[in-house]
Amino acid sequence: MILTARLLLPISDPPILDGGLFIRDGAICAVGKASELIREFPTEPHDDLGSAVILPGLVNAHTHLELTGLHGRLPLGKSFTEWVTALLDLRSELDDAFFTTSARLGTTTLLRSGVTCVADITTFGRSVAPLMAAGLRGIIFQEILGPHPEQAMERLDAAEKAIQSLQLQTDGSLLSVGLSPHAPYSLSEPLLLRCAELLRRRNLPATIHLAESPEEVAYIGLGLGPIASELLPAVGRHSPSHRVCGESPVAFIDRAGLLSEQLLAVHGVHVGGADLELLKQRGVALAMCPRSNYYLNVGTAPLTRYLASGLRVGLGTDSLASNETLSLWDEMQFAHRLYGGVVKAQQLVTMATLGGATALGMAGAIGSLTPGKWADLTAMAIDHLDDADPYGSLLSQASDGLVVLSMVEGKIVYQREGAER
Ligand SMILES: [Zn+2]
Repeated sequence: MILTARLLLPISDPPILDGGLFIRDGAICAVGKASELIREFPTEPHDDLGSAVILPGLVNAHTHLELTGLHGRLPLGKSFTEWVTALLDLRSELDDAFFTTSARLGTTTLLRSGVTCVADITTFGRSVAPLMAAGLRGIIFQEILGPHPEQAMERLDAAEKAIQSLQLQTDGSLLSVGLSPHAPYSLSEPLLLRCAELLRRRNLPATIHLAESPEEVAYIGLGLGPIASELLPAVGRHSPSHRVCGESPVAFIDRAGLLSEQLLAVHGVHVGGADLELLKQRGVALAMCPRSNYYLNVGTAPLTRYLASGLRVGLGTDSLASNETLSLWDEMQFAHRLYGGVVKAQQLVTMATLGGATALGMAGAIGSLTPGKWADLTAMAIDHLDDADPYGSLLSQASDGLVVLSMVEGKIVYQREGAER
């Protein structure tokens, strides 16, 4: 089929006014001017979306869909430690039905916002079924925590079994499976070492919350601060479960053997010059979550340095436990204001598409509208497109409600009500 619209943003190539794609067997066969495609493939069915922008499907590089139902139930704008402690307390009271409903709601919300690929962290495996039913692509990361060194073996065994179960469930789907050691402060050093060994042995992708807060920096480097005095004692741990030797979180995680091209580090708010060099050397990818950082009062990530450094950088919303919406459009618009226009609309749209795909190791298959890649795309109805500033006019007007349709491998996975084709 030929799909055309007022504007096509391939991302890896310049915008095409009155552009379109020729899709066959789920893949993009040709990209160009609508008139040329219609002339070249005259017998193909043609669907014109009118005043709309076609772009690659969005990649949400960091979510916890099982926590969607926590919206408004945690203290935002206070301290990071207060938030984590409240989250752990609340999570222990929730039941399976809550996580199942949350994951379903989160998946529907992603679909409505133009997401076609997601990196989701799961504790109970409840996001698998809705993501598969929705036909979305992505990586499901099994979460693992455990600050008590003596629990390391048992926790790792449980995580490995959970991974095997997730792999069985996702077999033949567009979802793959990885491991998410939660954060440098919530796993003991022996458990982090075992996670690194498991990741190498099974060649799995990984993701970790890294260098998120000043509290994490103080705890990893000095064994001090509210994580040592409040958070860990609340779970029965009264001394650091790692060798305290003045390291940054990034250096500590490298010593544990976790920094690699297979690692997606989330947040990266507190990363110094030496840390940045280490991340580059190891080929680590990053997921930025600017609104979550803002709501948890942890600081602002050095995004301009990351983009200039050539690191792979994607964009995520995090969960509704630390954010107001799961919309990547809201995330891009917030980041545009936060970085005062220093980070351009084009860079943000690229982060939310090709950047995320690159960070997840999927750029050979998705992330840009390029012949040979899968037809994973979304389309946004935009009335007033400024031809001289296509990315800016898209970003300033875009919202979830304007998503017309999304496709994964050429199949429609979302279509706005009343816009059935
Ligand atoms: Zn998170």
